Amino acid sequence: MFLRNLILALARNKAIERFVRTSRITRGVVRRFIAGDTLEEALTVAEDLAEKGFKVSLDLLGEHVASEAEADSALEEYLRLVSAIAASPYFGGWMPERINISIKLSQLGAHLDEKRCADRLEKLLAAASLHPIFIRIDMEESAMTDLTLRLVIEAHNKHKNVGTVLQSMLLRTPSDIEELIRQRIRVRMVKGAYLEPESVAFQKKRDVDQAYLACACKLIRDGVFPAIATHDASIIEKVEHFVQLEGISPGRFEYQLLYGIRRGLQEQLKKRGRIVRVYVPYGSSWYPYFTRRLAERPANLLFFIRSLFSR
Ligand SMILES: Cc1cc2nc3c(=O)[nH]c(=O)nc-3n(C[C@H](O)[C@H](O)[C@H](O)COP(=O)(O)OP(=O)(O)OC[C@H]3O[C@@H](n4cnc5c(N)ncnc54)[C@H](O)[C@@H]3O)c2cc1C
Repeated sequence: MFLRNLILALARNKAIERFVRTSRITRGVVRRFIAGDTLEEALTVAEDLAEKGFKVSLDLLGEHVASEAEADSALEEYLRLVSAIAASPYFGGWMPERINISIKLSQLGAHLDEKRCADRLEKLLAAASLHPIFIRIDMEESAMTDLTLRLVIEAHNKHKNVGTVLQSMLLRTPSDIEELIRQRIRVRMVKGAYLEPESVAFQKKRDVDQAYLACACKLIRDGVFPAIATHDASIIEKVEHFVQLEGISPGRFEYQLLYGIRRGLQEQLKKRGRIVRVYVPYGSSWYPYFTRRLAERPANLLFFIRSLFSR
């Protein structure tokens, strides 16, 4: 956790950000985690994965937009994505959908003006519900948790094609799980990718992992088609043991993994007959997403540094 926190803290340094963003060689490493710059490139990757039997969630990268105009253009891009998915030969399905969408509320300007963000979310959900296409609201840093849950619960009263994400590192999560189960809202369970203070989050990996397993089992038993989003093979084995013991069908939940990460594990789970969704990010605003992936695994950072010197 120390190295992870250090990388996340360094990533906020403007000089480092400028270097990583503008260095020509960064692009090659970025491609390992990001499907492409454009919707067309991302859809090609999504359709290829769908052809292989994976489910997909497409995410247009971007968060904490700086203006209402940027939030409007993110909405326009997402509306374009809805139309593109609906027109794809791989469109279809429900719990699991073959291709769905992930989005961050700070990309729709939640931190600028909550009401205007809610209006944009309403437009997106209304357009997506015509097909229907499921929209997952990613969870951001803890300062956004209340706002995110408030907007998701409000939106779910009107549209059933919306769900969200909870993070096992946050101390509040067990009570949020109870609430979302009560509201019949679909949850993706993750460990949490943000730097959080001791006052709100577990600081030891062991505690985050232990909480993760408890939350995942609770959601599988009582939630609506939850997503178990992790690359942690030991947690996945424990989840498998739990569902076997409880006699729960593996069709009642899905596993989710990130594009480019532990592809062997993705393949293995699919071969075992499990529903596996790959989260496919695309777009030019890749810096925050990229640095979170580096922080999760020091080996990625070494790979990145090596690539800087191997030209
Ligand atoms: C589909 C999906 C959606 C997500 N959405 C959100 C979200 O909305 N909000 C949020 O806060 N977080 C999100 N995350 C990130 C999550 O919170 C974790 O930061 C991330 O998944 C790493 O935790 P882990 O469960 O894989 O376990 P870890 O204990 O971190 O990793 C277990 C093993 O997986 C492998 N691994 C993990 N990460 C990497 C990596 N970057 N590169 C290479 N190998 C790796 C390593 O072998 C590692 O030992 C998401 C993750 C996934 C899979």
